[in-house]
Amino acid sequence: METKDRNDLIQYGLALVKEGLTFGSGGNLSVRSDDSKGFFITPSGMAYDCLKKSDLVRMDLEGNIIGGLRKPSSEWHMHAAIYRARPDIRALIHCHSHYISAFSTLGEDLGPISYLIASAGTASVPLAPYETFGTDALAQSAVKAMGERSKAVILANHGLIAGGRNLKEALSLTRDLEFCAFMYMTALATQKPIQMIPEEKMNEVIEKLKTYGQ
Ligand SMILES: [Zn+2]
Repeated sequence: METKDRNDLIQYGLALVKEGLTFGSGGNLSVRSDDSKGFFITPSGMAYDCLKKSDLVRMDLEGNIIGGLRKPSSEWHMHAAIYRARPDIRALIHCHSHYISAFSTLGEDLGPISYLIASAGTASVPLAPYETFGTDALAQSAVKAMGERSKAVILANHGLIAGGRNLKEALSLTRDLEFCAFMYMTALATQKPIQMIPEEKMNEVIEKLKTYGQ
């Protein structure tokens, strides 16, 4: 399983670049280990197309390095804090995708502009107040804003961190939320009022998505 986790981290990192959700060495990904006692995370400042399985770093939930020779991603505090707070989340993707990053400067939660918001498990995606990248303060801000139900949180003036039961779900949520931010920012540019989906309809979608797919 450990080999699969390491392969997946590299493959999903490459997918992030290919889909334009990040570039170069930007963003970071992690997967909770099978024993739930820690996680594997991408190293700091290395381009995804150069990554080898041995470059990935294994950490415990307190953020101690327990395997690997590289320095972990500078955002390891945030990954560790979310895994400690949310046992339901087993994989995380953090990136600075264009529309989410632009939206993150508006100082508000991303509301129900599309039913796809419900992929996060909630009717809106919370915004975490700004803190400096790579700090425990940012990790605490993210965990607090995320709460117990949302699978994602927008980091003010920065980007997104999205989770799921695996990297496939985390990537799918990242794509959905980037698309919702694209919808919002594009609609906002018309300067006309934006109509949101009513709360009861969003609750309907949240229930529907629980049994969606194969
Ligand atoms: Zn970042």
